[in-house]
Amino acid sequence: MKTALVTGGSRGIGKGIALELGKSFNVVVGYSSSKDSGEEVVEEIIKSGGTASTVEINVTNIESIEKAFTAIEREYGGVDVLVNNAGITKDNILPRLKEDDWNDVIDTNLSGSFRTSQRAIKHMMKSKWGRIVYISSIVGMMGNQGQANYAASKAGLIGLSKSIAKEMGSRNITSNVIAPGYIDTDMTAFLTDEQKDNIIEQLSIKRIGKPEDIANIVSFLCSDESEYITGQVISVDGGITS
Ligand code: NDP
Repeated sequence: MKTALVTGGSRGIGKGIALELGKSFNVVVGYSSSKDSGEEVVEEIIKSGGTASTVEINVTNIESIEKAFTAIEREYGGVDVLVNNAGITKDNILPRLKEDDWNDVIDTNLSGSFRTSQRAIKHMMKSKWGRIVYISSIVGMMGNQGQANYAASKAGLIGLSKSIAKEMGSRNITSNVIAPGYIDTDMTAFLTDEQKDNIIEQLSIKRIGKPEDIANIVSFLCSDESEYITGQVISVDGGITS
């Protein structure tokens, strides 16, 4: 069975992805601080008949990444499917955006995905098969007030993914981006009911998204059936950008 690593797999969208991939892959649920929630995700996958384990992986720390991949290689051979889901926000409008907040968001969301992808690609190249999926955001294509750092990081993932797709296509390694709209997780928990209603008004499908909405397409992009799809950006946003 192939092995899938989901960074930030213990909560929110990453949890939804890990649970869905648990139907077809051996899943390694990456966590940086939410260990207990990661173990609950593993239990859930195992209860449903799958195989899974947790690994500590902080994508801003190269030693943490190396340790996690070495452990996965020792146990399972390597990472066949990498879902770069870990992400943070540190919002502020440009005049007030601190350089540290710019750097932290770029470091986690963009450089973190570069580091994990570079580390994962060795095994994928050797086995001549691989799937990489990046969880970007519609904000990476549209921009958003107060999110210059976040939008830049998410736009950067698109360039990263498209380049990897071109470099690795001949080795049966695909690289694609999912751009979610508003999804109900801790990241969007600060939205008031009024703000949610305003968002829903702009959507064609009249509800906020669920982690499962993202997980279903990620699962397809990680399957053999998607082997001719690479370098793409797929928005899953209830029609807000349509
Ligand atoms: P959450 O805030 O619920 O979860 C964030 C996840 O990222 C956690 O699992 C967290 O792990 C992990 N994480 C944060 N920093 C690091 C790090 N340094 N190393 C490894 N893991 C880290 O967010 P969502 O589930 O909502 O978001 C998941 C992804 O989807 C993010 O990339 C986000 O930008 C993107 N997205 C979300 C949207 C939404 O509306 N919710 C919309 C568009 C995109 P831990 O708890 O272990 O620290």
